[in-house]
Amino acid sequence: MLTADSHVHSEWSWDTGGPDSGARGTMVATCEQALRIGLPALIFTEHFDVEEAWRAGTEEFPPAASQHINEAGYLVPPPLDVEGYFGAIAECRRLFPDLTILSGVEFGQPHLVEHRARQLVDLSRFDRVNGSLHTLRVGPDRAEPITLYRHWGPDEVMDAYLDEVPAMLASDAFEVFTHLDYAVRHWPVEQAGRFDPRRFEGQFRVALRAVAESGRALEMNTRRLSSWLPQWWTEEGGQAVSFGSDAHVPTALAGGFPEAQHMLEHFGFRPGRRPEDLWTRRPAPRR
Ligand SMILES: [Zn+2]
Ligand SMILES: [Zn+2]
Repeated sequence: MLTADSHVHSEWSWDTGGPDSGARGTMVATCEQALRIGLPALIFTEHFDVEEAWRAGTEEFPPAASQHINEAGYLVPPPLDVEGYFGAIAECRRLFPDLTILSGVEFGQPHLVEHRARQLVDLSRFDRVNGSLHTLRVGPDRAEPITLYRHWGPDEVMDAYLDEVPAMLASDAFEVFTHLDYAVRHWPVEQAGRFDPRRFEGQFRVALRAVAESGRALEMNTRRLSSWLPQWWTEEGGQAVSFGSDAHVPTALAGGFPEAQHMLEHFGFRPGRRPEDLWTRRPAPRR
């Protein structure tokens, strides 16, 4: 059985939807897709970026996202319409009673804006809060790795990303650390060759150990999932994982899940009672 997709976007995310997403929006279409593929549960974790703007070039982002880049070259994400979002969740629960539909957010850089975020939104209303590190400091500003690769050396970007992971754990506003390999997504293959995780193994392990010691789960982001991530997570003491496709279109829902679930079983992780539960592993017996 497929486990819940715990990282899904709909038209309530600022980089999703738009004019081509259809009149009914992608949330309804994504629920229809879940029924079609036999996915029992999903969590709509919309982007939640608070009072932040970051440096960006329009050439780096798809139109749905680049429409939010201003003339000064900053991406200014619009706020999440929390009430509209919860209304759509309620409507989908009514339309799809056989599907478990949970609420959530993908909270960007929680360590920088947690206080302000809590003033704006009662985070306890959401079933799941994923924490994401999307931007890194560059002088007085911040920017995404995809932008930084155009200005910095590839190793510099990767090192800066992994260095900031432990700092994000100062916030207790989130329970799952998403796509810890986010900076790998846009690794400049033409300039730097194929990404070799072993070159950054030490830094990855330090970051993974910090997440594990904080008691959080690590997301298995199935956009790209290689065995080194669950292997190092397990070896650094990780006890829980979630599975997320990071779908921004309905057809991407639960992409790669059968393979990912199989891989995590190999590393000793097992599903919980409900499909939306985190997968956990028993600690190795003491010798
Ligand atoms: Zn993300
Ligand atoms: Zn996402």
